[in-house]
Amino acid sequence: MTRKKPILLSLGAKAMILLTGLSVCFADMATAEEPPAKELFGGMKLPARAEPQAYGFYSRGCLAGGVAIPTDGPTWQAMRLSRNRRWGHPQMISLVEQLSKDAAQYDGWPGLLLGDISQPRGGPMLSGHASHQVGLDADIWLTPMPSRTLTASERENLSATSMLKKNAFLTVDPNIWTPSHARVIMRAASYPQVERIFVNPAIKKKLCDTWTGDRSHLGKVRPAYGHDFHFHIRIKCPSGSVGCKSQDPVAAGDGCDASLAWWFTDEPWAPPKKDPNAKPAPKAKPVGLGDLPKACALVLDTPGPASEEEATFRPGATGLAALTPPSPAAAGSGTAPGFPPDLAKVPVPRVRPAAP
Ligand SMILES: [Zn+2]
Repeated sequence: MTRKKPILLSLGAKAMILLTGLSVCFADMATAEEPPAKELFGGMKLPARAEPQAYGFYSRGCLAGGVAIPTDGPTWQAMRLSRNRRWGHPQMISLVEQLSKDAAQYDGWPGLLLGDISQPRGGPMLSGHASHQVGLDADIWLTPMPSRTLTASERENLSATSMLKKNAFLTVDPNIWTPSHARVIMRAASYPQVERIFVNPAIKKKLCDTWTGDRSHLGKVRPAYGHDFHFHIRIKCPSGSVGCKSQDPVAAGDGCDASLAWWFTDEPWAPPKKDPNAKPAPKAKPVGLGDLPKACALVLDTPGPASEEEATFRPGATGLAALTPPSPAAAGSGTAPGFPPDLAKVPVPRVRPAAP
């Protein structure tokens, strides 16, 4: 159903239109600057209370029904709490919890230090990251979790550890890298819902040269710029996320091939070639709400939960979408048409039981 807000004009406004002519009004509308989407999404403190949905692509989209991973769990601690980027699609948060448990149990990795996941409603960020916009990306530090609880200030200020040798280009430092580093990355790659893992090319090479276990998931580990302090987990579009745009699957094979060798040539590191005759490129406009999937406007407008706690993931709980559903009245008020699925028709999830 299409909802249109009635346009109410005062007598004065009507007179104004008559006097100045419609063209002036339209000109005013056209020059009204839309705030960059990163400001709109970066200002959101809580998620949109809705059925979990990732809208758009990893680098151009938003998230409804996000949940936060608790700042602390038995096998993880979240870092940089002030950024408020502990939010993700429930399937992403659930995977992070699973990895933290499995890595501690099987891989000699005592726990995960969590970097950025997404903002409460995803979307572009004010700083860092081209992706992480749909709640399906998570950064995990390559520093193992210490056995004590870090203070809030340590979580802001502690530096992660680079795996690279100082002053040696694209070489993993054998004094820092351990078999547990390899195991936690390969563990992450092994889950079927994981689409890709991004690591520094030197780390990929190290895995290619040394991983003697099952190599069938090694192809998911992809070389990328940076990613020497942390690795990046990307999961597939969850089933039922109709507005989520999938990424092409990785090529067959372990990826220890020409695509990796390219990173060890000069080409990826050479400054971009300049054409002396080229006109200066116009300054890129920041991404606006209109550049994102239509549903993202409603994601911004949808009411949030009453508190962060209400939208915090409870480890081990079932029914991950178990946020209190919006009332039909709230779902219908002030919302844009065509928000899939129609919030009022979504089956009512039960409120999640409290963690023991
Ligand atoms: Zn990342």
